[in-house]
Amino acid sequence: MNDRQADIGVLGLGTMGANLALNIAEKGFTVAVHNRTTAKALALRDDNPGIGDNVLPTETLEDFVAALKSPRLVLFMVTAGKPVDAEMARIAPLLSPGDVMIDAGNADFNDTIRRSAAVEETGLHFVGMGVSGGELGARHGPSIMVGGARKTYPLLEPILEKIAAKYEGEPCVAWLGPDGAGHFVKTIHNGIEYADMQMIAEIYGIMRDGIGLKPAEMATIFADWNTRGLASYLIEITAVTLAESDPETHQPMVDVIVDEAGQKGTGRWAAIEAQKLGVGATTIEAAVSARGVSSRRAERKTAAELYRDVGRTGAEFGGEAEHIAELEQALETAKIIAYAQGYATMAAASDEYGWSLPLAEIARIWRAGCIIRSDFLDDIARAYDAGDNVVNLLQASDFVARVVAGEAALRGVVAKAALAGIPVPALSAAIAYFDDYRRARGTTNLTQAQRDLFGAHTFRRLDMEGVFHHKWPAV
Ligand code: NDP
Repeated sequence: MNDRQADIGVLGLGTMGANLALNIAEKGFTVAVHNRTTAKALALRDDNPGIGDNVLPTETLEDFVAALKSPRLVLFMVTAGKPVDAEMARIAPLLSPGDVMIDAGNADFNDTIRRSAAVEETGLHFVGMGVSGGELGARHGPSIMVGGARKTYPLLEPILEKIAAKYEGEPCVAWLGPDGAGHFVKTIHNGIEYADMQMIAEIYGIMRDGIGLKPAEMATIFADWNTRGLASYLIEITAVTLAESDPETHQPMVDVIVDEAGQKGTGRWAAIEAQKLGVGATTIEAAVSARGVSSRRAERKTAAELYRDVGRTGAEFGGEAEHIAELEQALETAKIIAYAQGYATMAAASDEYGWSLPLAEIARIWRAGCIIRSDFLDDIARAYDAGDNVVNLLQASDFVARVVAGEAALRGVVAKAALAGIPVPALSAAIAYFDDYRRARGTTNLTQAQRDLFGAHTFRRLDMEGVFHHKWPAV
């Protein structure tokens, strides 16, 4: 046991916890660390000369709690779900009123609401906090989305502002709202990330199967795109991954990787919550579904044989350079639509849960540190700052102009891909949503007629107030 008292404790020293603890220690704070496998706590101090001086490894939970200054700040970075409840239950009896438990993992925000209510009742405080940026972000500066009671935030703010990523000097951290607000925003961040990645993969599919480009050629194109409108971490790493060679076979690395995407569930949560809120986050849904279909590789191989002669793959995309410019504009436009859907989901949740989510601030704290970081988020922040009442980004004047300029490219790419038999589920979801969203007279009048016929569900009329039921012919 060390006599020094720590500013904060980190419980759970896996990929994220260990790196976050080192980040905290490097910024001059003393951090007590604990892990069910104690060796990791000792190694964190011993393997990091210099920074390790600020790391206090502890063997028991009692030692861990005793090492913390009061009010104690205990940051959990353990596997989401049951381990969080289990560790909270073990440590709660050792804490005192006013101490704060912070769940910094990828929690389902519904769990965060439940945990907040249960913990706050006991006199302890609970903060659900989303952290984005992966391993490197945790180590050198993540984007941090904080929920929980407003009054608890000042206890964490000095540490979080130091460890967060900086965008032009501004820390990418903010308190976003009570109970589950931080984790909800993190979930939508990940949903947008899924959509962004899926749309990039679809453009890659067109380049590979429609135009016949080699990965190294694509890498050059993505690197070029990264110098203007699409500039972002995800486009940057797309160029890097496409340029990489496999040391074993000397083939392009992407060509030896199995085409089955993993997922831990946050994208799915985003799609489910959007559905519950009645927001059409169709690009996120398409991205989640596409990962699911990708994992059925054996089935896809059989289907590929069954439908070998179907579709005119490659016919509509020649090798012409003009397609590259069209693809760039299509991707930019689809990206605007995907982000509009993510933001619409957050706006709806804000109303539903009474969170008053600061949408401009959310864009600002995503500009650096997180996986979807880009200057484009600065444009979104400006749109929300400028418009008192932007119900959807597709109604913000800057984005209206961009979508008007780019929709033909997106439409053209989706149409050609469909004719060529190249799947573009997220890009086509984007253009379909856009066309649906901008249509003043939709088609659900027919749906309402059908519902009224078979279930007497009633309908409203354009020309009269009230609710009506029609006596339809018997069928
Ligand atoms: P790891 O698998 O690397 O580490 C998990 C940690 O949880 C380990 O310290 C492990 O202990 C501990 N743990 C697991 N089960 C239990 C249990 N039942 N009781 C006590 N401790 C347990 O996970 P990550 O660091 O990657 O992720 C941690 C959280 O951060 C997750 O919620 C994840 O979704 C989230 N996250 C991850 C990101 C990433 O890029 N990896 C990015 C953003 C968020 P032990 O060492 O003994 O096994």
